[in-house]
Amino acid sequence: MLGSIIHKILELSNKREVDASTFEEQWEATFVQAEKDYFKNPYNKQFANLKYWLPFYSVKKEITRLRIAKLPATKLNNQVFHTGKHNSYSQAEESINYQFLTGVPDLIEYKKGKVYITDYKTGPIYTCKNGKIKGIKREYEEQLKTYGLIIKKREGIKAENIILSLENVSSGEIEKRTFKEDEYEGHFADLKSRIEVVNRHVDTGTHQALGNPGTPACKNCQFRPICSKYAVWLKTSLENSIDLYMEYADLLQQSGGYCLKTREGSAVMNIPNSVINQVKDCLNEGFFIYNLSQSKNDPKHYYWTRYSALYKA
Ligand code: SF4
Repeated sequence: MLGSIIHKILELSNKREVDASTFEEQWEATFVQAEKDYFKNPYNKQFANLKYWLPFYSVKKEITRLRIAKLPATKLNNQVFHTGKHNSYSQAEESINYQFLTGVPDLIEYKKGKVYITDYKTGPIYTCKNGKIKGIKREYEEQLKTYGLIIKKREGIKAENIILSLENVSSGEIEKRTFKEDEYEGHFADLKSRIEVVNRHVDTGTHQALGNPGTPACKNCQFRPICSKYAVWLKTSLENSIDLYMEYADLLQQSGGYCLKTREGSAVMNIPNSVINQVKDCLNEGFFIYNLSQSKNDPKHYYWTRYSALYKA
């Protein structure tokens, strides 16, 4: 959540709609709106005084303020690039497309025939091993390269004139990348072949074979309840925080609704009356519950949310 607030502020800053003098006011307005959205889910109300629950809230806010204060005061245009124009101007959070590729870089700046593409991250940008930096995260490098590829193909710009940057707004770390012509072409061919593989599986109805479940990959995937690979993974996954596989649970009536308890000690609380028959129907079998809210105090305790759903295994 803090990440999306910082992103929003940086986006406004890139459009020159916020500067050092209006930062406080804009930050508060963005935070209040984000907080309002967050508390639409009644189970999130346990995190009242949200600022105190967000790790490094004050530090990250101050870093964002400093970053914005450092930006030059010149007003940049926020217009879409047209082939043939190579003057200085920028576009922030605009969708870019080429054939089957699409992306939304945080910032694109055109200066004297060169294109500078920047993507901001609010968390670590490096992979580390034994305390040593191994390089920028593979998925971030691929994301940057794809943005560069779209611009290169769409605008016909030479590879050497596309400068890609990844910036960690929390730590201030910046990584720059350029790619060669053949690296872009190789990436384009690779992406094309990946899409062909996916299409082939979709055509033959074997798309379940494509699943490669894991916590970061699946966390925001809306297909979790119908993905058989994910279901298999979930049965043995102890690191999951939003979905749960349960077997032979007890159903107890409590003041805030029903509570499901497993022998291993996991519990799902606040189950509403409206779904209780469905729950009873599954009690002696394995079943999955999706979109729970995990307790901050006890990782084995979950709350039923209005997005939660139960499926037989
Ligand atoms: S839930 Fe299935 S489809 Fe979704 S990301 Fe995970 S493996 Fe892929």
